[in-house]
Amino acid sequence: MNEHPVAFARCRDYDPSALTEALSRSFSVLGIGREFFEGKRVLLKPNLVLAKKPDQAATTHPAMIAALAEILFGFGAESVTLADSPGGPFSAPALNLVYRVCGMEGADPLVKLNDDFTFRPVRTDGVKLKTFRMISAALDADVIVDVCKFKSHSLTGMSCAVKNLFGLIPGVEKFEMHNAFPLLPDFSEMLTDLCETVVREKPFLAVCDGILSMEGNGPTHGTPVETGFLLCSRDPFALDVVAEHMMERDGEVLYLNAAAERGLVSRDWREIPLLNEDGAPFDDPPTFPLARPDADAGHFLRNLPNFMGGRFTKLFEPRPRILTKQCVGCGKCFKSCPRHTIRMIVGGKKKTARIDPEKCIRCWCCQELCPIGAVGVKQNFLIKLIH
Ligand code: SF4
Ligand code: SF4
Repeated sequence: MNEHPVAFARCRDYDPSALTEALSRSFSVLGIGREFFEGKRVLLKPNLVLAKKPDQAATTHPAMIAALAEILFGFGAESVTLADSPGGPFSAPALNLVYRVCGMEGADPLVKLNDDFTFRPVRTDGVKLKTFRMISAALDADVIVDVCKFKSHSLTGMSCAVKNLFGLIPGVEKFEMHNAFPLLPDFSEMLTDLCETVVREKPFLAVCDGILSMEGNGPTHGTPVETGFLLCSRDPFALDVVAEHMMERDGEVLYLNAAAERGLVSRDWREIPLLNEDGAPFDDPPTFPLARPDADAGHFLRNLPNFMGGRFTKLFEPRPRILTKQCVGCGKCFKSCPRHTIRMIVGGKKKTARIDPEKCIRCWCCQELCPIGAVGVKQNFLIKLIH
């Protein structure tokens, strides 16, 4: 049984008072109150993966930030800072655009939008990570509140509390992580190391925005879907096991397998204490069969052991393909590819991206960061037949 429970609350939309009430009830159910935040410098870590509007469901909704700010300052927090490092440069121009488009500028006047673009090394004793760099805003905080989204994800299958912490690694260093851990089982161990380190270092709370979620080609180019709930927990692994069940993908997410093997979480959601708004045990959470990402067609191959799963899977897994008619030649995929396997080709008056499939590691960074969704998926014909 996990030490920390997960609180479930219904919340149909982003109405400010309903949202504040649902979050307050969840905090109360978890026993989180004034003593957790009073006099503390709190970091809100939203999911700001790309400059997308809130109704596109790729990013944390600004109403979540406003409601959390009201509660946290009400509990006597000294300061509340919002910080994330999306893919691409970790710099003022890049982040200012993200803050503006994602609606963070007007979320709450008392919340400081992070303008410290420094980072520092962290030593850890992870299975894969021994040292890595983390943004200073997170290292300087007393408490971290991970404000994640309930989303489908082309690489990891799901983005929720654990995956959201990848944004604590500065800018393009995330591409280096993909480069260092090109196989999904290794990348998943790295995510588990990172999450374990963050949770161990300081008081931590995860809040999942499952009001408007994303299915299909997440984390940035999927379809918004109304799901109407919130999950909160001090344990990001427990929250994600419950979320994985609610997504009807029990047992599929590899970083949760890694966490379970280390004894950090039960792999069965029924063994995680789940509480409703009244604090009563809740054994029948709603489920949402979210459409899978196109890249996830070979997901069943991922559960093969690493020694055969990695390379064997590569033969059959879907791979990215540039939709040349849509591509506007902006070069964002070219700059973000960890393996430098994308070239920009000039043909006639148009510039378009081209991928070398041999070198591609299927990290899906190109799809995630393409601003207009011009990176599609090429399926292996055998996998297509099976499906
Ligand atoms: S990011 Fe998208 S639009 Fe830009 S070059 Fe790559 S595929 Fe084309
Ligand atoms: S082409 Fe896309 S999926 Fe392949 S390695 Fe580069 S960024 Fe990753």
